[in-house]
Amino acid sequence: MSTVSKILDKVKKEGRKSLLEPEAKAVCTEYAIPVTDFEVANNSAEVVEFADKIGYPVVLKIISPDVIHKSDVGGVIVNLKDAKAVQSAYKQIVNSVKKHKPNARIVGVLVQEMAPQSTEVIVGATKDPQFGPTLMFGLGGIFVEILKDVTFRIAPVTEDEAREMITGVKAYPILRGYRNMPPADIEAIVKILLNSSRLVMEHQEIKELDLNPIMVYEKGAKTVDARIILE
Ligand code: ADP
Ligand code: MG
Repeated sequence: MSTVSKILDKVKKEGRKSLLEPEAKAVCTEYAIPVTDFEVANNSAEVVEFADKIGYPVVLKIISPDVIHKSDVGGVIVNLKDAKAVQSAYKQIVNSVKKHKPNARIVGVLVQEMAPQSTEVIVGATKDPQFGPTLMFGLGGIFVEILKDVTFRIAPVTEDEAREMITGVKAYPILRGYRNMPPADIEAIVKILLNSSRLVMEHQEIKELDLNPIMVYEKGAKTVDARIILE
């Protein structure tokens, strides 16, 4: 059985519909979708150990099957620069989640590499009742949420279609580069779209995939948050 099938099976056996972020990112890694480096810590000593290993600055996030939007419950703290900051952030996150959602099961705390700020894009997949797995692309923040500036293609997408999805959004000039803004690595996004397409085609039990946001750089890209929901 493939690593991805094993992860999805475990989630189903536990009666869950949505993958925890470390599970979703492990699935992404199997499909060569770049994600931030991470480790799962179970206590405050491990948090520091893993932060030292990953290298500062780091981000801490709550891992709980009962928390879908982590920042809504104070479950994300970014830009932690040393061991002391990491230790106090660990306490702060656990306390905040317990306060907002007293019954939330806390599986651990995710320690991850802090991705430098850059142009943010979103890659998503949903299941169209008629056409099956369908991919979505857009730029992060207001472009998707307010302007609904997104493109869709039915999976599997070809390389040409993936490229059209990117050039097809109105905000495309932002990715191409303007004035003193360097161009973003379009090829890295094409690869993420193709690999996401392969993932949802090969694992039809995936109802939703949400890579949001992906930081795109002059060279390369990194998925900062990944969500996968099963049928
Ligand atoms: P939520 O479950 O609330 O969507 P996210 O994991 O998306 O939680 O974190 C919230 C925000 O924090 C992200 O949209 C991003 O701006 C920032 N963030 C999260 N993880 C990282 C990271 N590893 N590097 C840089 N910024 C991050
Ligand atoms: Mg998010």
